[in-house]
Amino acid sequence: SSEFTYDYIVVGGGTGGLVVANRLSEQETTSVLVIEAGGSVYNNINVTDTGGYGNAFGTTIDWAYQTTDQEYAAGKPQIVRAGKALGGTSTINGMVYLRAQTAQIDAWEAIGNKGWNWNSLFPYYRKGEDFQGIHYSWLEGSGVAYDPADHGYTGPLKVGWSSTQLNDGLAQQLNATYQNMVPPVPYNKDPNGGQMVGYALYPKTVDSIKNIREDAARAYYYPYQNRTNLHVWLNTNANRLTWKDGDAATADGVEVTLANGTTIVVKASREVIVAAGALKSPVLLELSGIGNPDILSKYGIQTKVNLSTVGENLQDQMNNGLVYDSMISYSKSADYVAYPSVNQLFTNASAIGAQLYAKLPAYAAQVASANGNITKASNIERFFKIQWHLIFKSHIPVAEILLEPSGNTYDTEYWGSVPFSRGNVHIQSADPTAAASIDPKYFMLDFDLHAQIEAARFIRKLFKTEPFAGMAGDETSPGLSAVAANAGDEGWASFIKNNYRSNFHPISTVAMMPKEVGGVVDTSLKVYGTSNVRVVDASVMPFQVCGHLQSTVYAVAERAADIIKVE
Ligand code: FAD
Repeated sequence: SSEFTYDYIVVGGGTGGLVVANRLSEQETTSVLVIEAGGSVYNNINVTDTGGYGNAFGTTIDWAYQTTDQEYAAGKPQIVRAGKALGGTSTINGMVYLRAQTAQIDAWEAIGNKGWNWNSLFPYYRKGEDFQGIHYSWLEGSGVAYDPADHGYTGPLKVGWSSTQLNDGLAQQLNATYQNMVPPVPYNKDPNGGQMVGYALYPKTVDSIKNIREDAARAYYYPYQNRTNLHVWLNTNANRLTWKDGDAATADGVEVTLANGTTIVVKASREVIVAAGALKSPVLLELSGIGNPDILSKYGIQTKVNLSTVGENLQDQMNNGLVYDSMISYSKSADYVAYPSVNQLFTNASAIGAQLYAKLPAYAAQVASANGNITKASNIERFFKIQWHLIFKSHIPVAEILLEPSGNTYDTEYWGSVPFSRGNVHIQSADPTAAASIDPKYFMLDFDLHAQIEAARFIRKLFKTEPFAGMAGDETSPGLSAVAANAGDEGWASFIKNNYRSNFHPISTVAMMPKEVGGVVDTSLKVYGTSNVRVVDASVMPFQVCGHLQSTVYAVAERAADIIKVE
């Protein structure tokens, strides 16, 4: 028995978790506890400063998960960052607010998640949003634009542009440049309506007036903290779920270690909602006895639910950058994105598509063999064909190109949007504080490298196209002496593999899919084989999205709350 009992316990007070906690506690008779390993960062300048991206890295609010040595990418490990604070990764992220292409969310339904498609998710993107518009004097001339129908105006999460937005004409010069590229990259007024291909200025999770970061805690918790039925325990680590006596896998609480080091059990009378992030939620399931018996038994954990695919299907993207001198000095910055489709990224898209299609069975076999056939090659091949179709037939963005002016430089970041490589994350100990084994298998499949190389070439082409070419100076990284102007794939490959980082977009480790094709949660986000354990965070997304993850995590969590409320 325990002196603490709540209707719902939410494990992880991050991006997804705080949405669910907020919405469930709208019902006054429902009690909700949030367990969060980190503390409050409400007044942490590394969080609130909209120009401070990166300042929180390596501090106490960064989990800084380390991967295994990446055998397909120079043999080195990577750091995958994630926020350890009330608000989770939304407190340290780049604040980019970009959703997905309609066809990508429709693909969730195509793999067997009935009812999960763009049309059913779109209202939830808007439900969470408090779009602040562009009617501020400091945005005049900045080039920002939007389609009113694509946004929500009554949700908790502020989205918009802040007073640091650059308005000196660069947006317009870049647009002219993209139109001059061969083939041209069309202007996209609002990439948040489900059509992402093109060049756009995107909004962020910022408070436009105060010019501070908007994160999950500032949106979904602090304005509601006086609710007596909503409690948050900070600096408290969830160790494992506890189970009700009997055969059915019914969770009845969570074992936690409090800030003072004491370990106790807190009871849940209805459900436990796991929202610890894509690199932690599967680990918590395994520590609780849900997973692959071969892994669990190695660490003396009794199997409660035999579900071998927990922790599989890990998908991330790889991030590289090129840096150029600028002829102009910038004291403000702004956010410009280009989303090329295959026809804009590859010179011979149909040939590349045909070659890739022929390789998909081999790709699927390689993924399955790398995880001991826990995920089946036949299922993976089906998913890969759907992914191929998205890229070559639905023409989703196949890469993302960000341009960031700052001081006397133009920084760029780029990545292939939908890598095929699949890795995994698993426990290496029964100790809940021990590091898990995280293996994204970056660059395992050659299309992923190819997309990364073509994105780099695309950037070089952009910087050679007028009028922007006249505003930019030399390429300082990697520079033409490191990667020659006419470098072949080999020349690019070594730069890319030695200099990439994680794009910090891990997903799918607790994938929402039918159980028979390797899923871990069903369409109500309930873990197969349990009666009352759900997962609500980036782990459940079965495919990568072309936007960034947070908007889709917020939307999925909004929908999850509605699903939980009617049960
Ligand atoms: P999180 O928000 O990470 O929430 C998980 C929570 O669980 C955390 O608060 C964590 O401390 C807590 N937790 C974990 N384990 C335990 C435990 N055992 N006990 C108790 N609590 C626990 N996305 C965008 O859309 N735009 C961007 O610009 C962008 N930039 C990014 C930049 C960086 C550096 C990073 C790391 C990510 C970025 N992302 C971005 C990705 C996006 O922020 C995340 O995908 C998203 O916030 C994840 O939400 P989540 O709910 O899955 O997990």
